[in-house]
Amino acid sequence: MSPAEYFFLHTNKAYTDHEAVIFIHDKVTQLRGFIAIHNTNLGPAVGGTRIQYYKTEEDALADALRLSRAMTYKCAMAGVPFGGGKAVLMSPKRMTIRQKNAFLRSYARRLEFLDGHFFTGEDVGVEARDIALLDKHSRSIIGRPKVGGLPAHWAVLSVSLALEAALQEKFGTESFKGRLFAVKGLGNVGMDLCGLILKRGGIVVAADINRKRTELARRQYPSIRIVPAVSIHKQAVDIFVPCALGNELNSRTIKELRCAIVCGSANNQLATSEDGKLLFKRDILYVPDYVANAGGLINVVSELHAGGYSREHVAKRVEHVKIAVEEILTLSRKTKQPTNVIADKIAEKRFYKQKK
Ligand code: NAD
Repeated sequence: MSPAEYFFLHTNKAYTDHEAVIFIHDKVTQLRGFIAIHNTNLGPAVGGTRIQYYKTEEDALADALRLSRAMTYKCAMAGVPFGGGKAVLMSPKRMTIRQKNAFLRSYARRLEFLDGHFFTGEDVGVEARDIALLDKHSRSIIGRPKVGGLPAHWAVLSVSLALEAALQEKFGTESFKGRLFAVKGLGNVGMDLCGLILKRGGIVVAADINRKRTELARRQYPSIRIVPAVSIHKQAVDIFVPCALGNELNSRTIKELRCAIVCGSANNQLATSEDGKLLFKRDILYVPDYVANAGGLINVVSELHAGGYSREHVAKRVEHVKIAVEEILTLSRKTKQPTNVIADKIAEKRFYKQKK
């Protein structure tokens, strides 16, 4: 089945509203993948480029459709004038550096076809050196370390603001002092977030599947208690902080949670939107991931600002994350609806309102 046949056969309710889906292919470099533009009512599409091995084109297309749609919601909630897009490239099982460079150059040429309608940066399978190479061949690259610096710093900041809003809502005080946090994932975001929580008087239990990271955490923060990754979500704490790879909240894990709040940086924490309802029924306050972790996005799109990248501008925008979370939590309490439903509704109102 060709990608186009697949697309038309499988477009269901969730995927009927994409503005464009582009199939890109180059026999010589083995480049093959999709660029999906979900919605540009608020501005040109932005979204990362994911390069990984996929068994089928259908799997890659499904990821491109799902992830580009999520970007529209994320941009709308972050209050940035951009829409949602995503590039999903099917990596061969193995690529030498030389092959990958050719693959990337070929991709960069195709990005130029889109002529400023899609801006892209790092995601799974794309490293800083790949960004540097893409940037040489395309004007559509954002998240350039030499321009805006590392987005993780801003993701840590936006999650900390979201945590403050959640603590205020649940306990009537935004203080971290004496609160128990369970942090899943000690990567770029998780590690620094642990530092910030400890500095503010919180108590941290953490986990990572990578021993090097847990050892580093122990060295850097001796008071952290490390537990096995499989049991981190079961800790009796005030806040569960997912900072690993997503899909942590499903019908099984939600039953096992022993926390009052879930708020972290990981993307796609809910396996399905129904899981937001399950959390709500259990009276666990869930801060929608794409709202809490918006700091990283706000930082990279600032590179596209007419006046150029500005740290001050980013800092001001990131402050708004707290206001956005407060709005969602208040509406959720008043209307008795799950926070993920409220966040999606607010975002939809913003990007559909702009339709001509
Ligand atoms: P990272 O790759 O640096 O860290 C992820 C960590 O999670 C790794 O140390 C990994 O070993 C660990 N991990 C993976 N699976 C695990 C599991 N099952 N249990 C425990 N640990 C596990 O990534 P990051 O940059 O720190 O980002 C963390 C999350 O936040 C990701 O979901 C990312 O998409 C999201 N996010 C990151 C940014 C950013 O700017 N870095 C911005 C917004 C959102």
